[in-house]
Amino acid sequence: MTQEVDWDGIAARFGTPTYVYDGDWLAANLTALRAALHPALEVFFSLKSNPNRGVYDVLHAAGARAEVSSLAELRVVLEAGTDPADVVFLGPGKSGPEIEACVGAGIYAIVCESFAELAAIDLAAADRGVRQRVLLRVNPAFSVTGSRLTMGGKPRQFGIDEAELLAGTHPLTAYEHADVAGIQVYLGTRILDADVVVRNTAYILDLADRIAAATGIRLDAVDIGGGLGVPYFEGEHELDTAALAKDLNPLLDAFAAAHPGTRLIMESGRYLTALGGTYLMRVRYTKRSMGEDFAVADGGTHHHMAAVGIGSFVKRNFPVALLSRTPEPDEESGPWNIAGPLCTPNDTIAKAAVLPALRPGDLIGVERSGAYGPSASPVYFLSHGYPAEVVLRHGRAHLVRARDTVEDILGRQSTHPDLSRPTGRD
Ligand SMILES: *Cc1c(COP(=O)(O)O)cnc(C)c1O
Repeated sequence: MTQEVDWDGIAARFGTPTYVYDGDWLAANLTALRAALHPALEVFFSLKSNPNRGVYDVLHAAGARAEVSSLAELRVVLEAGTDPADVVFLGPGKSGPEIEACVGAGIYAIVCESFAELAAIDLAAADRGVRQRVLLRVNPAFSVTGSRLTMGGKPRQFGIDEAELLAGTHPLTAYEHADVAGIQVYLGTRILDADVVVRNTAYILDLADRIAAATGIRLDAVDIGGGLGVPYFEGEHELDTAALAKDLNPLLDAFAAAHPGTRLIMESGRYLTALGGTYLMRVRYTKRSMGEDFAVADGGTHHHMAAVGIGSFVKRNFPVALLSRTPEPDEESGPWNIAGPLCTPNDTIAKAAVLPALRPGDLIGVERSGAYGPSASPVYFLSHGYPAEVVLRHGRAHLVRARDTVEDILGRQSTHPDLSRPTGRD
């Protein structure tokens, strides 16, 4: 976050719990990443990490292109004015309507994940009498460790196995309407070592050449995936973008020189949003249990599932801060367990977080929470619904998603008199 934030004002105006995104930070962070990396490398924002329209508006205005995976995500980016030539659609189980919408909108490429899907894309494009560019997602035989979720070298539902493509047995250039013209590889998420990104990319660029040679496809684009990470926990360090640029840019330079006109694409979700978001909640009650202090807040893991522990066996805390007051200099800090309102012991946002003595009414913020927040959390668990979302931009706060009301939650349910009528055998 870059700006001084009036947390009390935000809480008074929008209520709590609320996700607050710093739009100025989002734009500046993207600009800095693009400035560090090779100018030919285009950054596509993965809406999966934060599908909010207001967040996308900020990133789009700062030069992000779009990587989407559902009809709703596609609608968001098109309605935001994204040039269809700057949109790719990706996902292992695309529906007929999704493929038709991609072809209908004329997006740059569908990232195809299987031969069966390639045939479906060919049919959908034939129906419209057009050719649709396709990038093949490759399931690579290789992967550098260093990602918190490694994708390469394993049987996967994603993409087509590298060996199968290199064998050259499937006639990729034979489709009349599916125009296979590039590859995509995604090697993992939460990568904090520049060296891992560099080695993965070197592998992908080389693989693109080998697949083009084996199959005869053009390389209109090579999508090197992404998965750039941010530090959440003690002992994690920031991704060194200067080191990344130093080793990645020459690789991209050499590839660009050998392939003039080939678009180079990087996908990024977490890196573009995580550090720009704070989950703001208010302490409702404090209590002690068997010698430990608890603060029970109005927000919880139904909005912030990642706080339960992302892919780690030992649950570690997201950084948590007291935001509504500056503690007195002599005020004692202690270990606080911060829990939410759900009826499960898993609804714990932080364990033994060192904070000043919390009181009912205090505002606390879970920091680094701009990626994989409410949209990746069980927001309907216990029927609390989606929180409010706010974007700060140019010194002002804008509501970009209203909090779910009880009506919103119940309005989609239905019943029938038969359901409460006994059968006589009950
Ligand atoms: C999830 C995903 C992304 C975004 O990953 P981040 O780690 O958030 O940058 C990009 N590409 C693909 C294929 C993904 O599945």
